[in-house]
This record gives sequence, C-alpha cells and structure tokens, in this order.
Amino acid sequence: MSAANGASVRSLFENAKQSPFRTCQWPFGDPQDLETFRYCGEPTLAPHSYCATHVERAYRDPDEEREAGRAAA
Ligand SMILES: [Zn+2]
Repeated sequence: MSAANGASVRSLFENAKQSPFRTCQWPFGDPQDLETFRYCGEPTLAPHSYCATHVERAYRDPDEEREAGRAAA
C-alpha cells in the first residue's frame, strides 16, 4: 500500500463528507481493494447521489418491468 494512494482515497472521503451528493457515488472496483476502488465522479442528478447514467441503472429493476408488463396485459 503506497502513501500516495492512501492520501487520494482519504481526500475522496473528505470531499464526500463536505458535499455527499455533488459527485456520483457509483462505486467502481472492489471496495476492499483501495488500489482499484473509486467512485464514478460525474456530476449528480439531484436529489440522487448518482449521475444520470447511474440513477437509471440503480433504479431499473427487471422485476418491476415484469410487474408493469403484467399489469398492462
Ligand atoms: Zn455515475
């Protein structure tokens, strides 16, 4: 584990504390592996904590779509 990576991860969390919803919190990589883990970082789509792309992905639920289809039929 290098000091440079530790500092960069720490500043990510500090930014999140100050303004948790300013950048997309969609995680990339393995949270247990600080070498690869990072957040998306795109501007968020208020009031969500994800960008437009990831809000859509987070709330799209295959089961829900199936329910909607059944209700319409
Ligand atoms: Zn995103």
